Amino acid sequence: MKQECMIEQYKQMGIDPKVYAFGEKIERELKPRFDRIDETAEYNQMKVLRAMQENRVSAECFAMSNGYGYNDLGRDTLEKVYAACFRGEDALVRPQITCGTHALALALFSNLRPGDELLSPVGKPYDTLEEVIGIRPSQGSLAEYGITYRQVELLADGSFDYDAIKNAIHEKTKLVTIQRSKGYQTRPSLSVERIGELIAFVKSIKPDLICMVDNCYGEFVEEREPLEVGADMIVGSLIKNPGGGLAPIGGYIVGKKECVANAAHRLTSPGLGKEVGASLNVIASFYQGFFQAPVVTAGALKGAIFAANIYERLGFAVVPGALEPRCDIIQAVTLNSAEGLIAFCKGIQAAAPVDSYVTPEPWDMPGYDSEVIMAAGAFVQGSSIELSADGPLKPPYAVYFQGGLTWYHAKCGILMSLQKLYEQNLVNKELL
Ligand SMILES: *Cc1c(COP(=O)(O)O)cnc(C)c1O
Repeated sequence: MKQECMIEQYKQMGIDPKVYAFGEKIERELKPRFDRIDETAEYNQMKVLRAMQENRVSAECFAMSNGYGYNDLGRDTLEKVYAACFRGEDALVRPQITCGTHALALALFSNLRPGDELLSPVGKPYDTLEEVIGIRPSQGSLAEYGITYRQVELLADGSFDYDAIKNAIHEKTKLVTIQRSKGYQTRPSLSVERIGELIAFVKSIKPDLICMVDNCYGEFVEEREPLEVGADMIVGSLIKNPGGGLAPIGGYIVGKKECVANAAHRLTSPGLGKEVGASLNVIASFYQGFFQAPVVTAGALKGAIFAANIYERLGFAVVPGALEPRCDIIQAVTLNSAEGLIAFCKGIQAAAPVDSYVTPEPWDMPGYDSEVIMAAGAFVQGSSIELSADGPLKPPYAVYFQGGLTWYHAKCGILMSLQKLYEQNLVNKELL
């Protein structure tokens, strides 16, 4: 195709040829890196495919079940597929798990007992877990059940504070929670290799510790998952990476048989466990989404790297840096001004397939100490494997950006964010 046709196509989308050309230049430079991402996707695609073949996924698996959901072949087979793919002994993959926070709360409440202590050796966990644990007092928290919590900060350079971790482990310590993704913090995300080192260390101190990994945003980013480096269970959301953008709800827990059984008996009821829980008519989308997840994750990953390279080149601080390796699909860009943050989010919104005509506005979101702006035009509400961006309206005006069901859509969203900054003279046009 002639270059002019593409320029014209983007022009009709509202993207200035100069902005487009800058994007093209950056994309060309990223070619070798994108090739490596495609390689990872290919490897992981085979992993998923083989898990489906070995477990004899058939058309009967997509049948809808209701009521108690006894003998739900689709549900039971999907759980075997997840277990095989992520290298666990067993899995719980359910639409009754409403979100990632719910999956994590379920894993914690079911594997801890009153008097036990939970340890995070990687600093503060994801915001919503503060209430689950009771760091922020909350109705029904682990703290209310007499489960205590201890936290060891990462060192200034992002490395593990092994001495402090050793001192924090005692006879009550039962479960160690390790968050793979930095979430919305500025610490580096953890590679599977580093997670393995940490697990080996804590188990050398106390071998029977349960090591749980909050795997949100990390699935399929690397060739290995945390169960392959010694984790006892991994936990995540189906409206992030492993749902492939198609799962409309759901969460998973994969790992040791005992851990998964505990979770199942807490999700349903003692005595019932995994035997009940109809998969309703979402099961086919769980399969299809999981099948596509390696490629969807690769697209989101390319988008994150593209954004980092575009904005770093224009003088903005980005985390991870343009050249840094990736352990999850989140990209932070510090825009230095409220106008910049708002313009960025308006661009992401304007590029969405759904609700592209609405204008995101900052609002006072419950639980935050400043206004927050969010951009998302998703097929599934709140799905952050779909292109989305948000950030608190306070210095340094960082936006957290993630997702994109296809690489081309992620690219369009980033170009549109740049277009909005460009139109408002919020970027140095000399650099374009
Ligand atoms: C998204 C996320 C969660 C919580 O998931 P929700 O589905 O938003 O409840 C927990 N931990 C991490 C690291 C996440 O990225």
